[in-house]
Amino acid sequence: MSAMRLVILGRQGSGKGTQSVRIAETYGCIHVSTGDMLRAAVAEGTELGMAASAVMESGGLVSDEIMNGIVAERLAKPDIAAQGVLLDGFPRTADQADTLESILADLDQPLTLALNLDVPVDEVTRRMMARGRSDDTEEAIRRRLQLYEEQTAPLLEWFGRRGLLATVDGLGDEDEVFQRLQEAIESTNGRSTP
Ligand code: AMP
Repeated sequence: MSAMRLVILGRQGSGKGTQSVRIAETYGCIHVSTGDMLRAAVAEGTELGMAASAVMESGGLVSDEIMNGIVAERLAKPDIAAQGVLLDGFPRTADQADTLESILADLDQPLTLALNLDVPVDEVTRRMMARGRSDDTEEAIRRRLQLYEEQTAPLLEWFGRRGLLATVDGLGDEDEVFQRLQEAIESTNGRSTP
């Protein structure tokens, strides 16, 4: 299989992070999680981390300008040209989606597929309350889900218009969901092979 450029979308608590690790391992692409990059910056106390930590705690979104810069820099690295990428947590806004499209066009590495890991709001709320992470206050969870519906859910249509969207049912056990994701990825890759 040639190097793939994948995006994974899904509400917080959809299992996106866990499934992303498995996809990256299976297909050899680089897992780029903007949430992980920001958490690392916070832990290291870098300028970025200091700017981002309060926004993250409150469940808000770090500015498009900052996020677009971080992702542009990461995607330009040679490991991604060689191995492909799975973007997890980016894009989250229309501006980020437009920027991603132009970054990938400049690199001559067009997007292969956007996976939408679909888990209903009630279920993700239940899961997040159960995991009890320190940034998972009820207020922050509510805010993140609201921002997802307002800013990120419209991107499903954006990818759909470009013929790049595969929606996968995220309910069920981890292996079952992974199987569905693999089917979506492999049917797309098969289609693009000459
Ligand atoms: P995540 O682990 O993807 O849920 O990200 C954790 C937090 O990092 C989010 O709640 C946001 O505050 C911030 N974040 C991560 N990715 C982005 C992004 N693409 N745009 C804006 N904020 C982001």
